[in-house]
Amino acid sequence: MGNYRLDRIIKFDAIFFDRDGTINEDLFGYINSLEEFKYFSFSLEALKNFSSLTDNFFIVTNQSGLETGVVKLENLELINQKIFSDFKKMKLPLKKIYYANSYKEGFDEMRKPGIGMFNIAKSEFDINLENSLMIGDTYSDMLAGKRVGMKTIFLRTGFGERYLAQVKAENIADLICDNLLTASLEVILK
Ligand SMILES: [Mg+2]
Repeated sequence: MGNYRLDRIIKFDAIFFDRDGTINEDLFGYINSLEEFKYFSFSLEALKNFSSLTDNFFIVTNQSGLETGVVKLENLELINQKIFSDFKKMKLPLKKIYYANSYKEGFDEMRKPGIGMFNIAKSEFDINLENSLMIGDTYSDMLAGKRVGMKTIFLRTGFGERYLAQVKAENIADLICDNLLTASLEVILK
């Protein structure tokens, strides 16, 4: 793992988490109800660990199912309310959940690997992206992170195994971990 260690990081301006496959299970590629939204068993413990490294959590999630109709906006909002409520109970510093609701692709688009959601967070909350961290389970998460100069952690949960080779080949992950909990321990125990 030597090459992937995040050296000399003490505190991040913000940590950006992908949602599906990163903090919750992603069995079908989209989630359209509270019943389908299930945290990984270790997620809240892992998030608590990460909260020692920043005062700003964001969730950045591609939800193109809103455009195709497989995800309904009211259901997404219910899930967002649940996440905010759970994070609040755990005293986790979640500032905002950003979602990309279309399939539009391009460098500046909202949809990852576009950087739109990150730029909005940067301006809304005065975040220094170059001192921030992106955590996700897809190639797009890592590429978006690198495009704005963030540190990146790639997880093998969710769609991680599918993208692992590509992420390694392009060297766009600073750290590769089995899951969110091992990632949190790897970073906080330094
Ligand atoms: Mg994901």
